[in-house]
Amino acid sequence: MKNQIVIATSNVKKLTEIQSILDDMNLEIFPQSHFKIEAAEEPFHTFLENALIKARHASRLSKLPAIADDSGICVDALGGKPGVLSARFAGEPSSDQKNNEKLLKSLENESNRKAHYTCVIVFVKHEFDPEPIIAEGIWHGEILKSPRGSGGFGYDPLFLDHMTEKAVAELPLEIKNRISHRGQALHKLKLKLNQIYG
Ligand code: IMP
Repeated sequence: MKNQIVIATSNVKKLTEIQSILDDMNLEIFPQSHFKIEAAEEPFHTFLENALIKARHASRLSKLPAIADDSGICVDALGGKPGVLSARFAGEPSSDQKNNEKLLKSLENESNRKAHYTCVIVFVKHEFDPEPIIAEGIWHGEILKSPRGSGGFGYDPLFLDHMTEKAVAELPLEIKNRISHRGQALHKLKLKLNQIYG
């Protein structure tokens, strides 16, 4: 029998990436929407604290082990912003297009365009798990001067991957998943989860 697990995200694109990376594990994966779980508040200043609160929230309401991702883009010239506020950089309701426009405007006269995506993934066996499994991934690149490509989500049209010299929105999903911050974090998590579910 497959082990059931809930993924604490309401972002369909993120969910697709997570599901496709965990696909070869013996898991039956449910999105939190399956249990009508609303997104948790993310009141903290670090990706880790926000990922942990999301995982505990989904686990409490689903009564299942939970995986949560908290991620964002950190831009050197903006002192690491938008960081944990990436989804709401241009305010609420969250809009990828407005966020991208704000990012371009913020860097209008800036020559240092270095940035990185960060992802922290947390797995909890239950709501009060005192030993959450934590995995992190970082993807370095730079912010383009105009958007390219139509794949991915969020800041992907503006994020240039140094290795392929392509905007992330120009990369096929399998390539993004192999090198992305989320891909790196999930591959590390899988090694640890295999000790529990393998
Ligand atoms: P979260 O759902 O609170 O973790 O917010 C994540 C936000 O960071 C997203 O809404 C995007 O704006 C940005 N982000 C995180 N990962 C990615 C990615 O893989 N591509 C593009 N944007 C991302």
